[in-house]
Amino acid sequence: MKTFCGRANPTTGSMEWLEEGEDYDYHQEIARSRYADMLHDKDRNVKYYQGIRAAVSRVKERGEKAIVLDIGTGTGLLSMMAASAGADFCYAIEVFKPMANAAVKIVEKNGFSDKIKVINKHSTEVTVGPDGDMQCRANILVTELFDTELIGEGALPTYEHAHKYLVQEGCEAVPHRATVYVQLAESKRMWSWKKLFPVHVEAEDGEKILVPPSEMENCPGVPSVCDIQLNQMPSSDFTTLSDVVTMFSVDFSKPVQSASTYYRVQLEPVKSGKAQIVLSWWDIDMDPSGMINCTMAPYWVKPTSALQWRDHWMQCVYFLPNEEPVLQGEKLYLTACRDEYSVWYSLQKAREGENEADEEEHKADVRVESPVCRCRAHLLWNRPRFGELNDQNRTRQYIKSLRKVLKTDSVCLCISDGSLLPVLAHYLGAKQVPYFILFFRPLHFTNHLEDKIKIIEARPELLQPSHLEDKKISVLVGEPFFTTSLLPWHNLYFWYARTAVSTHLASNVTVLPQSASLHMMIVEFQDLWRIRSPCGICEGFDVQTMDEMIKDSLNFRESKEAEPHPLWEYPCKSLSDPQEVLTFDFTQTVPQHCLSTEGSVNLLRKGKSHGAVLWMEYHLADNISVSTGLMKMSNEKGNCEWNPHCKQAVYFFSSVIESEILSDPTAVTYAINFDTKTGEIAMDFKL
Ligand code: SAH
Repeated sequence: MKTFCGRANPTTGSMEWLEEGEDYDYHQEIARSRYADMLHDKDRNVKYYQGIRAAVSRVKERGEKAIVLDIGTGTGLLSMMAASAGADFCYAIEVFKPMANAAVKIVEKNGFSDKIKVINKHSTEVTVGPDGDMQCRANILVTELFDTELIGEGALPTYEHAHKYLVQEGCEAVPHRATVYVQLAESKRMWSWKKLFPVHVEAEDGEKILVPPSEMENCPGVPSVCDIQLNQMPSSDFTTLSDVVTMFSVDFSKPVQSASTYYRVQLEPVKSGKAQIVLSWWDIDMDPSGMINCTMAPYWVKPTSALQWRDHWMQCVYFLPNEEPVLQGEKLYLTACRDEYSVWYSLQKAREGENEADEEEHKADVRVESPVCRCRAHLLWNRPRFGELNDQNRTRQYIKSLRKVLKTDSVCLCISDGSLLPVLAHYLGAKQVPYFILFFRPLHFTNHLEDKIKIIEARPELLQPSHLEDKKISVLVGEPFFTTSLLPWHNLYFWYARTAVSTHLASNVTVLPQSASLHMMIVEFQDLWRIRSPCGICEGFDVQTMDEMIKDSLNFRESKEAEPHPLWEYPCKSLSDPQEVLTFDFTQTVPQHCLSTEGSVNLLRKGKSHGAVLWMEYHLADNISVSTGLMKMSNEKGNCEWNPHCKQAVYFFSSVIESEILSDPTAVTYAINFDTKTGEIAMDFKL
């Protein structure tokens, strides 16, 4: 089946219709999937295998046949483990057709076709009985349906259904139990992902402070969890205010209820401070004794055990609805509310003299509705964007450059989504009405400057002289930032918009930024390489079929694409110097012809070339630039510091080369082409 999907091109802004076959979606899903990462997760695999062996032996010791139900079999890995451990029969359920097909092939290749039946259904569609998908109910339930938040992939309803219809009472479950842990914390850095801090502006006539409106101050934000690699958060960036506390656990061997509920624990802060966030993670016990434990605990919790790197399970940050000052030793209650798929938190202070009897009464008011953004800023700005707008260093660069270009009679047009630049521009001197266009959702944070800042809700190509009161624009500004951007160069939409509004610009217009440049560097990743690297043999099982499937999906579109990753979460070291590869001159319109470049970079350090990282730098005004990528390269080891608010583009090389020292440095040649018609960047690297 073919469908036409309409979308606005993120770079050029033009509407385009793409013909998408059914294949497209699933290639995307497989190419970007976490299957490879799971197969590389040695700690997970080993512990599942141990848990499965133990469960099969317990059933056998009771003199029963071991009948396994594996929900969400993926590659078939856990069923093959069960069959090798002596299970009599496995029903391997997989809803995603391409994966179910792969599982059939992998099971066959490993010689388990007579023991494992792959069923391409959602588990809730599976039937039991003589003519059913399963002959009888299973007595071992094996699943791996968890996400970073544990329940976000629908584990609870799936278990609830399985216990009702697919497994025997008293079945063995692997994992046996999951436990969610929390720790209350204060962190200016993480709180800045939810709250807009006051912005200080040094204007000619004294310091001005931009204060967010109270509606925004009191907004509970959005419900979705913030999942990050908490292990990359330096301990200097947060303070834990409580011990680690068990929030709730789920026993998977007993009937599971998915209906909304809440859990409440008592806490005593170990330190006074501002309670802002709840850090959370989970572990799973593979067996009832708890001896086989797989944990997502971050580095400061289990400092002795070696951390397994994984990207399919990370840690969670939850934002409390409001910041709450707490005192060491005072009595607090932390409440976790959950529905079928998500969790959210709130904090209550115990009332003076409260005892257990009061608690029942107290419970009535602890059920808290899932947070809903009322101020709209949380819908317009995602968490990294909040962080970016709160970045004072960055703001300072914009203020400095605005001050250079603005005059009191400037007529200013800003093109960026949800930007504070118009407000800054007003304070810094543009006393004429600066104009502010937004194409999607305007931000009503104009600090009562409605008469000074006009929001034009028009696409740039539809801008009319009347929108601008027949004035010509003397200063065109942009960060640039657009919510539709995924890859760094998508923000070049600013250039296309600038081209579209050309007729409205004064002949001596100043454009800020003046230009952008694309930078590139070859890197060795500490861990991120795993997500795109073939696995081959996993715990003794041949999963090459999966590797090939991923490779096919990555090559599905002729030209391989770069993918966005926030590299502050994924350490790497540079093997080459950073190199400027293309520049885009915003003082001119977008040219008709392609912009291309070729060259080579020398590998200066020993290491594995996993790929190239690309990012944009914006030249705001003379000698003032901001980088959306590399911030610092610290030492001769090549450790990199990345902009913490932006995703960089990563182009994984299809084969890895190891560079040796250095007398005759290896060179990587590249060809990069920016097609100004399509806004796409094509890349080719030769090692
Ligand atoms: N068991 C494999 C793969 C785990 S990924 C392993 O451990 O390596 C989870 C898989 O479960 C995905 O392939 C997803 O498509 C599938 N899935 C999730 N919920 C399901 C359900 N209720 N019924 C069938 N498949 C499901």
